[in-house]
Amino acid sequence: MYGLTDNELLKSASYINGQWLEGKTTFDVSNPANGETILAVNNAGVEETKLAVTAAKNALQDWKLKSANERGQLMRKWFDLMMANQSDLGRILTLEQGKPLAEANGEIAYGAAFVDWFAEEGKRLYGDTIPSPSADKRIVVIKQAIGVVAAITPWNFPNAMIARKAAAAMAAGCTFVVRPASQTPLSALAMAELAERAGIPAGVFNVVVGTNARGMGEVLTTHPDVAKFTFTGSTEVGKSLISQCATTVKKVSMELGGNAPFIVFDDADVDAAIEGALLSKYRNAGQTCVCTNRIFVHESIAEEFTQKFVAAVAGLTMGDGLKEGVHIGPMISAQACNDVDKLVEKSVEEGAVVALGGQRGEQGDNYYLPTILTGVKNSMPIASNEIFGPVSPIITFKDEEEVLAMANDTEFGLAAYFYARDIGTIWRVAEGLEYGMIGINEGIISNAAAPFGGVKQSGNGREGSKYGLDDYVEIKYLCMGGLERKAS
Ligand code: NAP
Repeated sequence: MYGLTDNELLKSASYINGQWLEGKTTFDVSNPANGETILAVNNAGVEETKLAVTAAKNALQDWKLKSANERGQLMRKWFDLMMANQSDLGRILTLEQGKPLAEANGEIAYGAAFVDWFAEEGKRLYGDTIPSPSADKRIVVIKQAIGVVAAITPWNFPNAMIARKAAAAMAAGCTFVVRPASQTPLSALAMAELAERAGIPAGVFNVVVGTNARGMGEVLTTHPDVAKFTFTGSTEVGKSLISQCATTVKKVSMELGGNAPFIVFDDADVDAAIEGALLSKYRNAGQTCVCTNRIFVHESIAEEFTQKFVAAVAGLTMGDGLKEGVHIGPMISAQACNDVDKLVEKSVEEGAVVALGGQRGEQGDNYYLPTILTGVKNSMPIASNEIFGPVSPIITFKDEEEVLAMANDTEFGLAAYFYARDIGTIWRVAEGLEYGMIGINEGIISNAAAPFGGVKQSGNGREGSKYGLDDYVEIKYLCMGGLERKAS
């Protein structure tokens, strides 16, 4: 089916407590490249979400008490199976999400890398000993799994946004329930199939799929058996989920929206900057949280940069991600295209100039042409909103102080990029940008070894790296007393 080697990876029901839970009603998952239905999936809701939490709660004790090595071995098998099935998983991902196959295969490897990383990192969940102020006491700190973790994830990375969370949670000894976006549940279910094949015990990794986002979200954010809630998605939804979590004082981590500046200083290697901007702007049709949102170019090199950038972007081929030679797939929906189109229209009304694209593609309602706008001001809606589409607004600047002020003039603080060669500029700007991640002469920054996350309204917590386990553990302080020396 759909050119898969293993049709068993295409699942149509939630995976709860090691069982594929059939439901009474279904919803259609469709291919954004052509609107065709891929599969009808059983529509789980509030009750099934509660079942998943209970399954995770029941599985917690056994999973937590396994040694980090035992958990690591099972996770390593899961990783091996992900990589062995990379091309099928990539195909499923492209079918439901739209990104080109090469990018989808890249996402599978990227997601799997977190499973591999945390399978090892779980073995290094070190505690601490602290010199005590009293001679007859000792202070010891241990780290323990926080408990059941619930997650809600978006459609733009249907595999990796789950893997980044599940791998850290499971390595720390937590059990896990995820509700993936209803537009892209198939990648999540394929991960569950492979978790089962890897021998991950029933109830440790649960996937509940359905269209009632609000109702299912309410269970995951208010259930007393959920200790920790983690979300990747928009800032608007994230804020309301944080407040829902307050009722049971859950530990929360949030990976939210971004508005990444991409700054090109006058001493930059312009060709390298163009390559970086192409990757950080146009992959996934501009629908990533770390996508470049505003390009700031020093006025002395603006003309050269724009000419070369227009030529490079004009060379990108748009189409069905399953087709050979396609660089940009469809956007997730016609609504997403409309939203981008409105932002472009508004910018043009306010004086921006379309240097490339600026309209829908002829391939269908979900396609938006790779676009470049010049003459943009930082005050325009295209600069203050997260575009989440293949549009590059170019803004010129005169000096470092001005560009830093413009770059930081946003409520977001996820990723930022800049290209410069002067060591003084590099340090000052790296320290001055109010963002969680900075690409310096580099447009692709995310990997399992590095801490991914934002500041300001882009969220809190970090995914990946040695810091990634912190979100899934509690610190426990043991005070050992009664150690006074006996008189001899
Ligand atoms: P979204 O509308 O916030 O949806 C994200 C997830 O939340 C989906 O699973 C969605 O379910 C669910 N959801 C929506 N409303 C809900 C509610 N009231 N209660 C509970 N769950 C609810 O975001 P999106 O448009 O899918 O994703 C794009 C956003 O994610 C962008 O802002 C992007 O920057 C951000 N993002 C951030 C990161 C990061 O690491 N910081 C990574 C990727 C994406 P349904 O889809 O079924 O409605």
